[in-house]
Amino acid sequence: MSLIDALLAGTSRPVRVALEKSLEGRELDRDDAVVLLGAEGRDLQVLCAVADGARFEDVGDEISYVVCRNINFTNICYVGCSFCGFARHKHDEDAYDRGLDDILERASEAWELGASEVCIQGGIHPNKDGMWYREIVRAIKSVLPEIHIHAFSPEEIDFGVRKSGGMSLHDYLRMLKDEGLGSIPGTAAEILDDEIRKIVSPKKLMTERWVEIVSAAHEVGLRSSSTLMYGHIESPRHIAGHLELLRDLQKRTGGFTEFVPLGFIHHKTRLYREQSSRAGATAPEDLRLLAVSRLFLRPHIRNIQISWVKMGLKLGQIGLMSGANDFGGTLMEESISNAAGSEHGDHVEVETIERLIREIGRTPYERTTTYGRRRRARAEAAEARPSARPAPPADMALLSGY
Ligand code: SF4
Repeated sequence: MSLIDALLAGTSRPVRVALEKSLEGRELDRDDAVVLLGAEGRDLQVLCAVADGARFEDVGDEISYVVCRNINFTNICYVGCSFCGFARHKHDEDAYDRGLDDILERASEAWELGASEVCIQGGIHPNKDGMWYREIVRAIKSVLPEIHIHAFSPEEIDFGVRKSGGMSLHDYLRMLKDEGLGSIPGTAAEILDDEIRKIVSPKKLMTERWVEIVSAAHEVGLRSSSTLMYGHIESPRHIAGHLELLRDLQKRTGGFTEFVPLGFIHHKTRLYREQSSRAGATAPEDLRLLAVSRLFLRPHIRNIQISWVKMGLKLGQIGLMSGANDFGGTLMEESISNAAGSEHGDHVEVETIERLIREIGRTPYERTTTYGRRRRARAEAAEARPSARPAPPADMALLSGY
C-alpha cells in the first residue's frame, strides 16, 4: 500500500476523490469544495492532515504573526447589517466617535508598544465627508511615518468615494495611497453572493461592487487581505462560490496577502435572534474551513490565517495544524467581535503567541502586514517592556462586558 493510499484509507469515496485530485496538484473546483466542506469523522481528520501537508509544501513550518493594534474610530453606523453587534445609533448611550487626536494617541501608543501596523476601521457614520479617511491617514503619517496603515474596508471606500464630490474610485484610492495608506482589509465580504447579502446586509455594497473596489485597490498598488464570514445562513455552495471568486480575483491581480475565515459570532445579533441563523460555527466547521481554504486557494493565496478572536487560542492551535500558517495579530483592542459576544478577549501578548506556536512544534516569526520579515530591533525594544498592552480605554470597559 502506498503512503497516499494509507493516508486516505477509510475515507468516503467522494472525499477520497477530491483529496486525490488535490494531492496530484490539480485545482479543486466548486463541487470538490462542497464535498470537502461536508467532511466529518475520518474524512475530516484526513482532510486536515492533507491540508497540513499542503501548508508545509507551500510555506514550510514557520508560523507568522503581526504586532498590530485595532482602532475602531466610531461605532456609529446606519447600514444595519443584521449580523453586526457593533453598530450603534448616535444617541445610544455607548455610541462613540473618536476625533483625530484620540486616533493619533492610540496609534502613537501602539507604535511605542512595538506595533508595526494599525488596523483602522469604523462604522459608516452618515455625517462624515469623503475626506475623513484621508485626514486620518494624513494625521497618523505626519507623526508616525514608518507605521503601516491597514485601513478602510471596501464598504468604507465605497462610502468615501460617494461622499468625495465626484472623484473616481481609482483616483480616490490613489489619493489615500499617496497620503500613506499601506493596504486595505478585505472585510465587508461576509459571503460574496447576493442571495445571502440581500438577507444579512441589504444596504451594504453588493458582490460586484466589492470586487470592483478590491480589484481597483490592487491595481493602484494597495494590497488587501481577504475574508469570509461563515456559520450563519450560508450553505457549502455559497462558501465554494466565494472561494472561487477570491481565487479568480487573485489570479488576475495577485493583490491578496492572505485569506482569513471568520466564524460568525451570533450572541448579540439580529441575524441570530430574528432571522433564524445558526449559532455560529462549530469547531469541526472552523477546521474544515481552514483546511478547504488551503487546498482550494493554493498556490494563489499562500497564507491562511486563523482568527483567534473567533476560535479561541486552543482551537486556533489545532487550526494551525489543519492548513493555516498565520496566527494573525496581537490586536491590542478589539471591539467588533467582542461587541457581538465573543468570549476570546481582545489582546494577546507576543510572548503568548510565540509560546502557543512553539507548543505545537512550530517556529514563530514576526511579519509585516504584507508578509515580509520584520526587522527585530523594534520588536526587541518592545520585549524589554513589561507588557505590550495599552491601558483599556473607557469605552472598552463597556464592551468587554459582552
Ligand atoms: S457590519 Fe459595518 S457596515 Fe454593517 S452595520 Fe456593522 S459597522 Fe455598519
